Amino acid sequence: MASVPGFPDQATITEVGPRDGLQSEPVFVPTESKIALIQALLDAGLRRFEITSFVSPRAVPQMRDAAEVMAAFRDRSDAHLTALVPNARGAGAAIEAGVDAMVLFASASESHNLKNVNRSRAQSLEGFAEIAKLAQGTGVALQGAIATAFGCPFEGEVPVAAVVDMARAYRDLGMRHVTLGDTTGMATPALVIERVDALRAAVPEVELALHFHNTRGVGLACAYAGLSLGITHYESSIGGLGGCPFVPRATGNVATEDLVYLLHESGVATGTDLDGLIAAAELAERFVGHELSGQVMKAGPRLKTAPMDSVRTANG
Ligand code: ZN
Repeated sequence: MASVPGFPDQATITEVGPRDGLQSEPVFVPTESKIALIQALLDAGLRRFEITSFVSPRAVPQMRDAAEVMAAFRDRSDAHLTALVPNARGAGAAIEAGVDAMVLFASASESHNLKNVNRSRAQSLEGFAEIAKLAQGTGVALQGAIATAFGCPFEGEVPVAAVVDMARAYRDLGMRHVTLGDTTGMATPALVIERVDALRAAVPEVELALHFHNTRGVGLACAYAGLSLGITHYESSIGGLGGCPFVPRATGNVATEDLVYLLHESGVATGTDLDGLIAAAELAERFVGHELSGQVMKAGPRLKTAPMDSVRTANG
């Protein structure tokens, strides 16, 4: 298999479709369908999931079955299950449900944080300190997610310093894993290189993961930039599930099977099976009832051949 010089030999994928993806779908996907989808993703070899979110069911009705979804998989000791947690109440429920880690999230830009969680960044961090106390001694880890790490729909450019400050605050709360999130698809390869370099210099003890949206068509190019820097952890969503919260017609997350296609064809192992992921993407498409943005799920793997008599001969 051909490979790209300088790329890592292997990469880890955290599947965020069950949370990030389904949360932005207008319909409630029934609990048994969510469980079937996660099972299909496990069968395809994925082992890390942002599986749900312990939020107010009034605020996010799509995630109202968080505890039931967790209960179906908490005994899978080979799977790492995280859940998004906005506050102490959610943290209590997540710990009770047996998550491996809680994902705490704040935006690098003040206005997006205010719009997203109705708190200033400082208030968010105070809340995280409270959650960190709750988590102490439970064995449940904390992970940080930085939204608008590559740009803000309200403020435009987000200074690198704002991203670095948030990463430092997360580190000081004991987090060893931080995701740079591209909430509205504003990342570019050049910004990825700039921000990863700055974070590696400022918080070298923190493992970075990258989470891209394909809103402007360069999601995989950004992943390619990350790979060229040796970043080995990415987040993606099966089929590209999930939209863009501020641009209704735009597509959202990079599709897991598209990312895996890029990785495998670049000589980067993921432990996943592309055919199985395509099957899971088709399942996800059925569950949400509309076409998903993933591309490899439509075209198939690169070496999928067709019998010659299955297509009409072109005339010119
Ligand atoms: Zn996302």
